[in-house]
Amino acid sequence: MARRRGLALVGKHAGPQVSRTKSRGRDAFQILLTGQDRRGLLTSILNTLRHLHKEYPGIKVYEIVPCPCPECRVKEKEEVHYFELENLFHRLSKGRQKIECDKSLEEVDLLEMLGDMLVFQHLKVGEQVVLEDAYKRREPRTVKIFLASSEELKAERERIEIEINRMNKDLQRESIFLELLNWEGGRVAETSSRSQDNYNRGVEACDIFVLLFYSKVGRYTLEEYEIAKKRYAENQKPAIWIFQKDIDLPKDQTREDAESRFDFLEKLEQAEQFPTCFKNEDGLWLELQKKLRAWMKEERQGFVLT
Ligand SMILES: [Zn+2]
Repeated sequence: MARRRGLALVGKHAGPQVSRTKSRGRDAFQILLTGQDRRGLLTSILNTLRHLHKEYPGIKVYEIVPCPCPECRVKEKEEVHYFELENLFHRLSKGRQKIECDKSLEEVDLLEMLGDMLVFQHLKVGEQVVLEDAYKRREPRTVKIFLASSEELKAERERIEIEINRMNKDLQRESIFLELLNWEGGRVAETSSRSQDNYNRGVEACDIFVLLFYSKVGRYTLEEYEIAKKRYAENQKPAIWIFQKDIDLPKDQTREDAESRFDFLEKLEQAEQFPTCFKNEDGLWLELQKKLRAWMKEERQGFVLT
């Protein structure tokens, strides 16, 4: 290998610092990086190595990644099956979504495996894979969730609030904050300075609109739903998720309440918006969490939830 001057690639922020060094008497490079974003760091290391290897066209490089199947995950390093990275990219771009582990013969999902490991600009089945080319610190991002429900679903609302707070602690590392706008029937207008108008502006700005209903759907809730629906028709935002508490209706349900519920169900059917049913707070959070995680995965590759 021709002798070269040491080089340093210093990124704008916490980019990798590369220096020439010796390891066991051989030329080596040291790549220094700091940060907590595991995938971002790994992507940056990969890019730096690729950049360095460009200077040595004679050297053939294999980039291999360990198989994440349940069997390989618990094996010793040398026992694990390795995939060639470029081959995974190739398969994905040719429309393959799965690959078989040579050891366990289990199928591994390519999108999941790659998405968990590296940061991509573009990662879709049947399309060219594009790796994020620079290590960037993620901009802090607030995801606004508007939660509309009637008073009778107080326990459910409280549970969501607790769980979202819990989730926020994990998301801190990723500079993501879930902001919950909690609205309960007609009560907020009395107890807070916010008027219905202000709250509706919340619907205007939210990323995700969540509506819970059970035995009735109040006027305000309906208003909020209509605004969210209108916004969605115009610009595919916000995501609209409807949850229906599907247990026996209260014995004292008034005729008015029963009608509001039927009317709403009819509206949903017309809009082909099918509610997700739940029986209790546990069931509700399970479903909501599932949607939230899927949404984040879809919305931005940078969302990684552990
Ligand atoms: Zn495996």
